[in-house]
Amino acid sequence: MNEIQQTAPAEPAGAPIELVGLSRDELTAVLVSLGEKPFRTKQLWHWIYHQGETDFAKMTTLSKAFRDVLAARCTVGRPGIVTEQNSADGTRKWLFRMPDGNQVETVHIPEDDRGAVCISTQVGCTMTCRFCHTGTQALVRNLSAAEIVGQFMAARDSYGEWPTPTDETRHLSNVVLMGMGEPLLNYDAVVKAMRILMDPEGIAMSKRRITISTSGYIPNMRRCAEDLGIKLAVSFHAPTDEVRESIMPINRKYPIKDLMAAMKEYQEIAGQRQYITIEYILLKGVNDSLDDARELVRLFDASGIGVKFNLIPFNPWPGSPYETPAVKSCQAFAEVLANAGYAAPIRVPRGRDILAACGQLRSASEKQRLSRMRARIAAGIDDDAHVLPENS
Ligand code: SAH
Ligand code: SF4
Repeated sequence: MNEIQQTAPAEPAGAPIELVGLSRDELTAVLVSLGEKPFRTKQLWHWIYHQGETDFAKMTTLSKAFRDVLAARCTVGRPGIVTEQNSADGTRKWLFRMPDGNQVETVHIPEDDRGAVCISTQVGCTMTCRFCHTGTQALVRNLSAAEIVGQFMAARDSYGEWPTPTDETRHLSNVVLMGMGEPLLNYDAVVKAMRILMDPEGIAMSKRRITISTSGYIPNMRRCAEDLGIKLAVSFHAPTDEVRESIMPINRKYPIKDLMAAMKEYQEIAGQRQYITIEYILLKGVNDSLDDARELVRLFDASGIGVKFNLIPFNPWPGSPYETPAVKSCQAFAEVLANAGYAAPIRVPRGRDILAACGQLRSASEKQRLSRMRARIAAGIDDDAHVLPENS
């Protein structure tokens, strides 16, 4: 498996300094370098993350002279919006362009008095799970902390939800790291971005309202529990190594037994009351039999881990190799888990009409895809799943 740890290219000299995505300490260092007092960090932080202000001229608690310096040297940016699409069910999807031209997708899934923003952590994904559209995208790069936080802020702009509401009734009440990419392979940027989102003087997102979803990259699971303590969802998808391996290459390196141990450890650190969500995609004829459900029950009954299931009927995408099971067989599968005492809702797909549902995100045009693939191969990170078509 390829693990790519590169971040966005550095800004050219003379370019404005992007303040979004800096930690408090980094922001202080910038202010000091501009001749300001460190204690101004708190005020500026408030403007950027509580008020959502992007125009320095309007940051009226700062001196006029300081505002002018900031305007001359810095910027409070947002990713550029390439497209915004609204599904008939209220789901909204943005295609954002990052400063280097790469594009990622972000989705907002509304409920009655709240809603979750599904954020991407990488451009593409190296994990190449066979059922996932993102995994078919050629080149992968990590998103920076600024780009991760920026998706949330741009989504919030879109709902006009600034300043940060004081109660929990918000359009953007929850964050799920379930967009494009494997968050635990972009660990440092994800941690930095989540610390910014959780900062009580800014966006103030509670750790109980953030969920990180991983395909099971074990080496960073423990650290994540310690550093962030946010909710964990694991893309489990099969009750045996044999089946899991056939749909998720990561299982070859990190098999089910090790994954279960890592989940147990995560729960011990993050808190026993915090259930881990077991995501289970239902693929017709692959992992959706009643025996598969019974095997899952056996596995988790014996594990001592507090879990709830989230059953996701496969969301098809153009050229996908699987089929969605019939509603009845999804229900029968869910019943086996429910009868054994597990919460096992079947997730209603949201935003299918705009390809915003789980696993349907994939940003690049074919042309971009091929040029990225060439770059990937040139960098010596080609693999069997990403082969350049002939005559390309
Ligand atoms: N890389 C992380 C998070 C992003 S994927 C992970 O894999 O957990 C978010 C969820 O969508 C995962 O549970 C993933 O398995 C699921 N998913 C991927 N492709 C899907 C598809 N075609 N239909 C339904 N769910 C899918
Ligand atoms: Fe990557 Fe998650 Fe898709 Fe697998 S399911 S390819 S880990 S984004």
